Amino acid sequence: MSAKVRVIVVGGGAIGLASAWALSRRGAAVTVLERFGHVHDRGSHSGHTRVIRQAYHEGSSYVPMIQQSDREWQALGRRAGDELLVRSGLLLFGPADDPELRAAIDTCNRCQLPYSLHEGAEARERWPVRMPDDWRACFDPSGGYLRVGPCMDAMAHEARAAGAVLRHGVKVEALELGAEPSVRLADGERLHADRIVVAAGAWLPQLCPTLLPGRLVRLRRILAWSSPAPEHHAALAAMPVWGAFLPEGFFYGFPYGSEGIVGLKVAVHTSAAQARLAEPIDPDTVDRRAHPEDLEPLRRVLAEHLPAGRGPFDATHACLYTCTPSWDFVIDRLPGEPRVIAAGGMSGHGFKFAPAIGIHVAELLLDEAPPRPGLGVAAHAG
Ligand SMILES: Cc1cc2nc3c(=O)[nH]c(=O)nc-3n(C[C@H](O)[C@H](O)[C@H](O)COP(=O)(O)OP(=O)(O)OC[C@H]3O[C@@H](n4cnc5c(N)ncnc54)[C@H](O)[C@@H]3O)c2cc1C
Repeated sequence: MSAKVRVIVVGGGAIGLASAWALSRRGAAVTVLERFGHVHDRGSHSGHTRVIRQAYHEGSSYVPMIQQSDREWQALGRRAGDELLVRSGLLLFGPADDPELRAAIDTCNRCQLPYSLHEGAEARERWPVRMPDDWRACFDPSGGYLRVGPCMDAMAHEARAAGAVLRHGVKVEALELGAEPSVRLADGERLHADRIVVAAGAWLPQLCPTLLPGRLVRLRRILAWSSPAPEHHAALAAMPVWGAFLPEGFFYGFPYGSEGIVGLKVAVHTSAAQARLAEPIDPDTVDRRAHPEDLEPLRRVLAEHLPAGRGPFDATHACLYTCTPSWDFVIDRLPGEPRVIAAGGMSGHGFKFAPAIGIHVAELLLDEAPPRPGLGVAAHAG
């Protein structure tokens, strides 16, 4: 396909920017349409930081894509003169027989990642975490966190430098897929292109109703920042990002810091004990306030497993997951419409992959490549 292919990218969040970045570097004429601003708090990238980890309990097939993204984030950071990836290390812990902890260790072994295992007592000595003696901790030195704002600034900067046009405050109402594909904007304007990428995060099902119909579920998640006592700040700042496979669910957190908000950030990914975590939401009407029932489990996890991190939750924030049935991603052509690529269903773990996903979107679109095996569920799965 010609280098002058015109591409509209719907959505200027993590995946839309990564797609625009990759496409424009390959010579496409890209226009990004974002209904809100650049880096905002209404979608799925808010909350200032995102974990990057290779000891992936979701499966070793993700690791090559994480490693590709890790290299891209580092190179982008060097060019931007900014630290995008903070390599704090990653500490996973839980009961020794927890299947997800075992899956993470299995990924380390299969992918020959440089990890270390620690019995509960040894982990308590080394980090400010609390766990019984018969629990285990897996330390992955390659883990860390990404600084969301600088990552997105850097992708936007390089996309613009390669000719991409980024428009904000522009809402796409619908795709119109006639002889020449176009998008209809909220003010009635129509914009035409050769190809369209839909990276609309939690709004993807509205724009692409034929994509896994009824099977992309939007969920609400609350992030909270505690204010621990000052005498614990240094130890908490020096700790790795952590993930706890607890009997009540998977909780995670970040070192104490000041990225966006001063405090110790903690959250829950999944918990069967909290019915609300599985309740589908609408991104336009979702309850964005944090309630006591959101915060109590986080308070309990800090009390039991990171007591130095206890303190009032001075800041909270609601963020949105868009989940596929398997919690893998969907990056594919729309069923029956090869001119449109959908990149979404990031299922609460997509940010770290953004560079690799952007590159793959460009391959799908410019090279007419097949969807990459292991990259997620197919749009044509039903
Ligand atoms: C609480 C929480 C914690 C997470 N933690 C991690 C983590 O630690 N590590 C990790 O890798 N991932 C994590 N994730 C997942 C990751 O942040 C998301 O997968 C990623 O941000 C999704 O990017 P996106 O581009 O699909 O969505 P978004 O970043 O939300 O972007 C979609 C964009 O499309 C725009 N848009 C929507 N509809 C329209 C329209 N009609 N017209 C124009 N624009 C439109 C939206 O305004 C939005 O800006 C987490 C997510 C949440 C919510």
